[in-house]
Amino acid sequence: MGSLMGDFEEELQEVRDTFNSGKTREISWRKSQLQAILSLLKERESDIFKALNQDLGKHHVEAFRDEIGTVAKSAKYALGNLNKWTASKRVKLPLAAFPGTAKLVHEPLGVVLIISSWNFPFGLSFEPIIGAIAAGNTIILKPSELSPACSSVLVKTIHDYLDNSAIKVIEGGASVGEKLLQHNFDKIFFTGGGRVAQIVMAAAAKNLTPVTLELGGKCPAVVDFISSTWDRKVGSILIAMKRIIWGKFGACGGQACIGIDYILTQKKFAPTLVELLKKYIKKSLGDNPMESNSIAKIINNKHFSRLKGHLDEPLVKSSIVFGGSSNEEKLFIEPTILLDPPLDSAIMTEEIFGPLLPIITLENIEDSIEFIRARPKPLSVYGFTNNEKLQKRMISETSSGSITFNDAIIQYAVDTLPFGGVGGSGFGRYHGKYSFENFSHQKAVMMRGYLIDFGFRYPPWNNKKLQLLKSGLRYDYVKLVFIKIGLIKKA
Ligand code: NAD
Repeated sequence: MGSLMGDFEEELQEVRDTFNSGKTREISWRKSQLQAILSLLKERESDIFKALNQDLGKHHVEAFRDEIGTVAKSAKYALGNLNKWTASKRVKLPLAAFPGTAKLVHEPLGVVLIISSWNFPFGLSFEPIIGAIAAGNTIILKPSELSPACSSVLVKTIHDYLDNSAIKVIEGGASVGEKLLQHNFDKIFFTGGGRVAQIVMAAAAKNLTPVTLELGGKCPAVVDFISSTWDRKVGSILIAMKRIIWGKFGACGGQACIGIDYILTQKKFAPTLVELLKKYIKKSLGDNPMESNSIAKIINNKHFSRLKGHLDEPLVKSSIVFGGSSNEEKLFIEPTILLDPPLDSAIMTEEIFGPLLPIITLENIEDSIEFIRARPKPLSVYGFTNNEKLQKRMISETSSGSITFNDAIIQYAVDTLPFGGVGGSGFGRYHGKYSFENFSHQKAVMMRGYLIDFGFRYPPWNNKKLQLLKSGLRYDYVKLVFIKIGLIKKA
């Protein structure tokens, strides 16, 4: 192995040369690569299913819903909108700039580094790749080492389907990530945890490289039964329970950045909520969830022990009201509900990232606003309520990447909404047009003509010029002249 700077030099030089050749700026190239992603997803579907099952125990229906289907939808959306997104946009100029025109032109940033996570190995790699391709960049992708089967399918399929002079996958863990970060990129797009995000940002600072950080945190779900109207409608309760259970356990077994982390609800309602959740967990996963193939496994022994450690804390253990069993060999932890575990225990201070659902009870549901505000800003906040007053207060008085009412996780799949965090849950946003913008620079382009010129812009200076400059700033000077000579009417 050569010097540290020497690592991956060749790969980086190749994608930089490709970017400099102008090839990836061609709209036809961008479309061909987006089409190729669609073919890859279709033709290598079974390899993707197999890898997701091997690394994460994901059922192929879940794998299709959360990764293949979602990515294909995004690629199609980008293909359908690419002409519109890439077209330059005329902007208005003040008359003082007459004669002249101005427009915004989206230019690609250059070579981008995408570092992704293991819980949605295809989704979290291809979503930013789609944006980076749509914007005309070349790409180095470093997937997570914790989902090796998926990482290896990413290498093979990207090699087979995409233009390798422009898009390369480099596999490896922290040390490979650190070596990559020593190079100069034009953009770093990182998905992962806050600790590594600090390393990424520090490395990016050396080259003033812009970064997007897609991080996690604790996403609360406010479940309001009392002031709501839907508590009296059995159908709505059924749907709400299904969505809460899915939003907690149904996406990668609770290992999802926008999964429900914990519930806030009214004290007097908590026993009913626990009974309802138990009933619907059994309905969707059967009497013995351990036997169900509809719930993903824990990614590895380290995370299994971390989650088990939460449950083994005595005061947390005594708060378990449902579930709690586990099987280390199968890396399976039963969907578990906990009622009022201590607020200073790890399960309530750290992101859970697993199938453990604490319910925290409050006297009044409005207290949930203060509860959320007192903690780091979540990636998502959920509200299961039809109480408009509470909805309005939650929107305006809490801060989070997104807020969704009466459902969970679904916002991730909406192309017209930006996806990203705020504060500790990250910054920068992507999906749909926001992905295109994330990987573009909006260049201001101005064209001037020589027909009119104002001498007071130029030295030698005198007080008359100062007066003219002051009035020029106060009024649209040309407009006044045009009104005076009758070319335009006074407003
Ligand atoms: P992580 O931060 O440990 O790793 C993320 C990526 O960084 C991996 O590819 C890893 O190999 C790489 N990495 C690790 N150490 C590095 C280093 N020193 N230098 C360079 N790269 C390094 O996170 P994780 O375990 O993969 O994911 C879990 C976290 O990610 C959770 O906090 C979760 O909420 C968050 N997450 C966020 C999103 C989102 O879209 N916002 C999606 C999934 C996960």
